[in-house]
Formats: sequence, C-alpha cells, structure tokens
Amino acid sequence: MLEVDTRLLIDGEFVEARSGERFKTYEPATGAVLAQVAKAGSEDLERAVAAARQAFDEGPWPKLPPFERGQVLRRIADRIRAGVDRIAEVETRNGGKTISDSRREVEGAARVFEYYAGAADKFFGETIPMGEERLDFTLREPIGVVAQITPWNFPFLAASWKAAPALAAGCAVILKPASYTPLTSLLLGAIGREAGVPRGVLNVLPGPGAELGERVATHPLIDKIAFTGETRTGAALLRASAEGIKRVSLELGGKSPNIVFADADIGKAAAAAVKGGFGNAGQSCSARTRVYVERRVHDAFVAAFAEAAERYRVGDPLDAATEMGPLVSGAQLERVKAYVEIGVAEGARLVIGGGRPSGLAPGNYFAPTILVGANNRMRVVQEEIFGPVVVVIPFDSEAEAVAMANDNEYGLNASVWTRDLSKALRVVRALRTGMVSVNSHGSASRWGLFAPFGGYKKSGLGRELGMYALALYTEVKNVFVELAD
Ligand code: NDP
Repeated sequence: MLEVDTRLLIDGEFVEARSGERFKTYEPATGAVLAQVAKAGSEDLERAVAAARQAFDEGPWPKLPPFERGQVLRRIADRIRAGVDRIAEVETRNGGKTISDSRREVEGAARVFEYYAGAADKFFGETIPMGEERLDFTLREPIGVVAQITPWNFPFLAASWKAAPALAAGCAVILKPASYTPLTSLLLGAIGREAGVPRGVLNVLPGPGAELGERVATHPLIDKIAFTGETRTGAALLRASAEGIKRVSLELGGKSPNIVFADADIGKAAAAAVKGGFGNAGQSCSARTRVYVERRVHDAFVAAFAEAAERYRVGDPLDAATEMGPLVSGAQLERVKAYVEIGVAEGARLVIGGGRPSGLAPGNYFAPTILVGANNRMRVVQEEIFGPVVVVIPFDSEAEAVAMANDNEYGLNASVWTRDLSKALRVVRALRTGMVSVNSHGSASRWGLFAPFGGYKKSGLGRELGMYALALYTEVKNVFVELAD
C-alpha cells in the first residue's frame, strides 16, 4: 500500500483536477503502473495561484515573526524524520533509486527543513552609515508567490531544497514535481499541512510541464520561478518569463570533470570515480562523467576503475545491498543506449558495460559503462547523458587538464585528485565551475547541505542551499530616513 493522496493539493485541501483527468506513474524496476495521479491543467494552476496570492497578500504567513515560521518548518522536519521508511520506499518505487540513497536523501531533506527552521530569523538587513542626520537601512522581504518546478532525479530532496528556504522567507509556494516522480512531493504537501502550514502557502500540482510551464512563466501573479532540470527547458522558461521581469533561479545540467593527477591515491580515486559517475545510475547533474587522468597512470587507473565498477551491485533498488537501480524510464534507457552508440561510432572504445545487464529485464536497467579512446570534442564528452556512462581521457600537463575540463558549456561541479595542495588550489581557481571537490567524488551538499550549490555557465543561475537560498526568495528594500529638522 502506497498511502499517498494522489490528488492535487490546492489551498490546503486535496482535490481532483477540474478536468477529472489522471495520469499514470510507473515503477522503473518492473515497468508496472504504480499509481494514477490527478493531472493539473490550466484551471487548476489558476486556482493554486489565486490561493497562493491570497495567502501571501492577506497573510498571516509572510507577516508572522520568522521564528514562528521556523517552528512550523521544524515540525515538518520532525514529521519527515518520523516517516523516513515510508517516504524512502515510495521514492525508490517511483524513481528507481536505491533504498539506501532514498533513505539518505529523505534524512537530508529533514536536515534542510531543520536548517531553514533555524535560519528563518537569521537572515536580515543591514544599516548603511550616512552620518548623524540620516538613517539608512535595508529590509529583507519575501518575494511573494513562487512557482517551483522540480526534476525526477532527486524528487523529495529537490522539492525540499526549494520549498524550505521559500517557506522560511515567508513566500507562498506552488510546487510542480516532475511527471515521472510526483508521489513524494504530494507526501511533502501532506506533511506540510499536518505540520501547520496555513492554507494556500504550499500547493502541490503534478501535471505536464510542457503545458503548465508557459503559463507559469507568463503569469502576472507569480513573482518568481525556481527550476531544476534540463538546460534547454531552463532557457525556455527564462525567455518566456523575460517580458514580466520575473525573478528566476535555475539549477541546470552538468558534465562535471574529475581530474586525477599521477601523485594522487589512485586506488581511492578509482573507487570514488564509481560512486561519482554511477551513483543514482548517473542521473545526477553533479555526476563526474569526464575523468581526465595523467597519462602515466591512465592505464592503471582505468584497470582499477573498471574492476571497481564491475563489482558495483546493480539490481532491485528495494534491496538494501543494491548500489545502482534502474533508470527512471524506458525513454531514458533509450537515450543512454543511443549515446553509447554515438560514442562508439565516433571512435571511443568500450571498457565495460554498454547495454542492459543480463537477468534484470523488464526494468530500465543499464550497466555501468566506461569509454576510453575519446577526444574532448566528442558528443559523449560534451553532452549531458544522464545515465551511467563515464569517459576517461589522458592528459600530459596541468594546463591541458584544466583546458579540457573547462572546454564545455556546463560549469556545475568538478573534482581534483592530488596530494599536492598548491596544485590542487591552482586547479580549483582555474576551473570555471560553481563547485569543486578536492580528493572527493562528492559535493559538499552530500555532507552538510549548508554550502552553496549551483553552477557557472549553462549550469544555472543563483545558488541553492545555505543562506544563499534565502537571497533567492527575498527582495531587498532600502529605507532612507531624513532625521534633520
Ligand atoms: P525537463 O527539464 O524537461 O524536466 C524537469 C522539470 O521541468 C519537470 O518537472 C518537467 O515537467 C518540467 N518541464 C518540462 N517542460 C517544461 C516547460 N516547457 N516549462 C516548464 N517546465 C517544464 O527534463 P526531463 O525530465 O525531460 O529530462 C530530460 C533530460 O534533462 C535528462 O535526460 C537530463 O539530461 C536532463 N535533466 C537534468 C537534470 C539536472 O538536475 N541537471 C534534472 C532532470 C533532467 P514534466 O515532468 O511534466 O515534463
């Protein structure tokens, strides 16, 4: 039993779509239909916008002392924690990610709500000195009604990264989850309602992004859009919202490099490259999918990497021992397969993988795949595949490694492996990415969730997490007071 209310959450109530329509959501491990979810259309969006507008314009949410909003967020965190098992199971069955990843992400979501519960009353304005006869200060005010559009690769966590700071700031939220994975966002809506989020402040609207997106972008009563997904979709949203000068923050694609110098701990770097490239079945914007290895250790690295990748346990995502589950959909599987074929046709060579692992039909499984013999301009090196495919390329100098790493339209994340601290920091400075990890495959967000997350170039606009996210959901008002008689 799923125990998820599969209706829309609008104005504090779960309701059917006006059209009465529902859409199917699937279980990627089996291909079976998991649930039928109410499908929001334009009339439902209008209802949600009206409810959010009223909740924001008439209060009480944005006018509450921030500390009190924080208390509601803390109750949400407590309820998420109490429901980890259930939420994680729904996440795994709907998105295909392993149960251990789902549990870690749901616990991470609880921490995000806790963080913003405490941060709600710690993000404030400043006083600008102007002499005895004038007073100048700034206020941080909530931006208003915020539409948040989330992806399918981290459904519950991405919704929490977005909703928690927006709610802490005093905004009213319309959350539109990805159509592949709507269920845990509906659970989040239900939890918010139980925790005392007032009516209209958190609305959850599963429905087709292609139909709702244009209206969200042009709606005069929506003040801000926060989006995570494909760069092309983000660019379309930005174009459509330009006329209204809407506030927009974007967390987009990545093709993150992983630079391994010969003086690094090669065994450790190779083992980490497995999780960095194949974690979440490679469906991660931070996946380290381009590995640049100093030539004299290239072959040893590839051998160690391939050996560790072959040991990576692919299978039933509900089994606690599984390290990699299926891809989210049949369409994603076809896309990944097509990319590997393109890579091989362009001259890259398969070391391992390249197709479905045996014995795992009918789920959307794809084996961890390593390609070598590629050059930096090939499509498999330049484009985001969003599957378990990693390309390894040798380099001869630090400058060449940095040049190849930066030769990409994305600039989200990166790793550098070396025991030489000066070299590590030189490379950190030279990389055009929003985040860099030294001697680690992970992002800071995996450990702390309090460091800024976001990218340079076509990887996005703005930074999520930490106090940075509160800046995304507030406006600055400057107040000037003439004190002289
Ligand atoms: P999208 O960017 O299309 O989807 C992300 C979210 O945007 C979903 O909620 C989706 O809704 C919504 N959406 C779709 N079209 C529009 C639109 N015109 N206006 C507003 N919102 C819209 O990504 P896909 O799910 O189609 O995935 C395609 C590829 O994108 C992946 O293979 C991957 O390469 C990349 N991707 C990257 C992510 C990242 O974090 N970097 C995350 C997800 C995808 P709906 O689900 O209803 O279509």
